[in-house]
Amino acid sequence: MDIEILPAGPLQTNSYLILNKEKGEAAAVDAGPEAFDLIKEECQKNSVELKAVLITHPHWDHTLDVHKFNTEGVEVLAHKDAVSWIEDASLQESMSMPGIELKNGSVTRTVGHDEAFDLAGVRVEVRDTPGHCPGSVVFYLPDGGCCFTGDVIFDGSVGRTDFPGGDMDVLKKSILNQIYTLPDETILYPGHGSSTLVGKEKISNPFVTV
Ligand SMILES: [Zn+2]
Repeated sequence: MDIEILPAGPLQTNSYLILNKEKGEAAAVDAGPEAFDLIKEECQKNSVELKAVLITHPHWDHTLDVHKFNTEGVEVLAHKDAVSWIEDASLQESMSMPGIELKNGSVTRTVGHDEAFDLAGVRVEVRDTPGHCPGSVVFYLPDGGCCFTGDVIFDGSVGRTDFPGGDMDVLKKSILNQIYTLPDETILYPGHGSSTLVGKEKISNPFVTV
């Protein structure tokens, strides 16, 4: 299994591509502005079929291109509490920025806490992590030793909680109970910026340490 990091768009949102070249399949994480073209190009380059897009949370910088994946018939997975903001993008208006034209997308399958499934031959576990916004989840790949965290936690920081549905106490609880309980050597792939490790954040994250 290989992982490609594909930052794009005005907020340099990280999309990720989980590649299973042996199987000829791939899955993507998040679908912000410009993500569709990048992901499609990488899939073509690696001769893999994109099986699904996993959405960490329903903020436009992670979901704007969902509608493009919909037109190609790619499965889009998100938490049930994320569905309304993705399917009625006007609900994201207060978080948008000038020059961004919000688009409605469709979630084809909802996922929730403690659910596990195989995607592109890779085991994926879902953990609910509210606090940054409703419908926020992280995707843990036990065999890959990594976790896609969206805007829950970053290298040396945490997600902002001043948007609708944000709550710092809830976010801290999510990090303590769902992220810091992963093995210390787990690589965290956040929605923005560089990757980090559970063990590193546990001792040095200025917002949530144990
Ligand atoms: Zn966000």
